[in-house]
Amino acid sequence: GALPSWDDVESLVQAAYERNRTVDDGEVADYIPILGEADPALFGVAVVEVDGRVHDAGDVDRRFSIQSISKAFVYALVCEELGHRPVLERIGVNNTGLPFNSVMAIELNDGHPLNPMVNAGAIATTALVPGDDADAQWAFIVEGLSRFAGRTLELDDVVYRSEAATNQRNRAIAGLLESYGRLDRDPLETVDLYTKQCALLVSAHDLAVMGATLADGGLNPVTGVQVVSPEVCRDTLAVLAASGLYERSGEWLFEIGLPGKSGVAGGIVTVSPGKAGIGTYSPRLDSAGNSVRGQRATAHLARSLGLNIFAST
Ligand code: GLU
Repeated sequence: GALPSWDDVESLVQAAYERNRTVDDGEVADYIPILGEADPALFGVAVVEVDGRVHDAGDVDRRFSIQSISKAFVYALVCEELGHRPVLERIGVNNTGLPFNSVMAIELNDGHPLNPMVNAGAIATTALVPGDDADAQWAFIVEGLSRFAGRTLELDDVVYRSEAATNQRNRAIAGLLESYGRLDRDPLETVDLYTKQCALLVSAHDLAVMGATLADGGLNPVTGVQVVSPEVCRDTLAVLAASGLYERSGEWLFEIGLPGKSGVAGGIVTVSPGKAGIGTYSPRLDSAGNSVRGQRATAHLARSLGLNIFAST
């Protein structure tokens, strides 16, 4: 394998978990009301190597809503479908430096969505999902994300409804995109689809498999299914490196040196190209919306396994 021996990786994953399990900085998100009920003690760290070897520590099978992490995988699926240039013309790849739900992320650029990892660009990306109607688009999203995970993902209906009842801001973002002529689909239907994609349930283990698929040029190392092309993985990982951790993306890249994506339910997926996917889950977040323990455990692994892509030794 591309990583050290199984025993070595196994003990480093256990150490990343043990050293951070009592960290209690950060707050559980509650802007989607139901997320506030998550147990802050939960913590899982999973690594899946590109050869399919698995390392698990803690609550790796506990399911939570994927939230913003879905943006990375829907973007990859849309790039696979439409191609590099057409997607780039529709949705930019520069970090906005703005919070995930920023309206300025639309206003600053004549309505051109600047980035698929903040809501404006993510909603515009979801609108590009192929399908004759919203049901067909939903099937495309569920099937695509399930191929990344290697199992059929399910919707958390309670999370979906909790967010659908409180997502006025995302509806406003979609309305703004429409007003700029940047949305070819019905704005409310698109937000609904986006809200559902965010409410798909995953575990830290699933995230590690999804990350390992991006690490392995789109080949799911558990199922052997080619989900997207190597070129799409390359492009998606570049976007994640620039903007996967909200307005802390620069700090993350500086400290950890790997593409990653976080979500406000407490998940983080991290990709070590050619080597492995890392999935973490812990609901306490920093002020930007990134899991505190997840960042620390991933930093521990990136250092101890020597994964920083900028390091020459
Ligand atoms: N569904 C959430 C929203 O769009 C996702 C936020 C996140 O994980 O950053 O507001």
